[in-house]
Order: sequence, then C-alpha cells, then structure tokens
Amino acid sequence: MPLSRIAQFSPLSIDHIQPQSLGGNDDLDNLALACRRCNERHYNFTAGIDPETNIEVPLFNPRQQAWSDHFIWSVDGLLILGTTPWGRATSNRLDLSDDRREEPFIQNARRQWITAQLHPPGDDPQQRIIHEPTDGADGWL
Ligand SMILES: [Zn+2]
Repeated sequence: MPLSRIAQFSPLSIDHIQPQSLGGNDDLDNLALACRRCNERHYNFTAGIDPETNIEVPLFNPRQQAWSDHFIWSVDGLLILGTTPWGRATSNRLDLSDDRREEPFIQNARRQWITAQLHPPGDDPQQRIIHEPTDGADGWL
C-alpha cells in the first residue's frame, strides 16, 4: 500500500471534482481521492476566489492539471502556497494550510510527518498524501 494511504488517520474518500449535486458523474475523470477534510471543504464548490486578484476562478482539477504547475511547498514544508490564480483559489477554498485556526492541525501533523521523514512528498506521486500534492494523478491536491 502506498505511503500516501498508510499515513492517513482515516481512509481516503472518493471526491467528485464536479459535485454530484451539480450533475457530476462517477466517471473516473470526475473522481479524485481526498482526505475527509479536503472533501468536506470542497463540498459542492467548483470555484474559489484568488486572494491576490479577488477574481473567482475554477478550482484546481487534479485530473487535468499538474499540482506542481499551481502549488509549491513553503521552505519549512508546512504550507501549501498557490502560485497561480487556480492554485491560490484552491488553497484558499480548501484551506490547505489550515492557517485560519488558532490550532493549525494540518501544520502540526506535517511537523510530525517531517520528523518521521514522511514529508514533504518526493517525486513519486504514489508517495503523496491527498491533501498534499499528487501532481494530478489521482487526488485533489
Ligand atoms: Zn486533504
């Protein structure tokens, strides 16, 4: 089993890129693996606001776009930073760095993963955790 699945505290869920509530189907190109948190934050949103431009853009599509074209890790490995309007809007909508709360659970978990040498993810997409980058292979982010 890939490390990306073992390192989760609960099974990854199947998320619909185009939400079922908006007519999304079960075709593989509309499905993405997601941690529960990302799945819940994605909800039925298909777009988000780029905080730099305040323009609404479609969310990152892990089936059609490459993660590394839209996101980077902060140097300390704790934050996912959007580098394009799509990346920034997605990072903002899904709160990928959990930086809105006093207790940033994601950042705390990433610190532990770094200590365990499980993070940041390497070049192998199978080693990547879903709310972490997957380079578009099968996950959200
Ligand atoms: Zn996630």
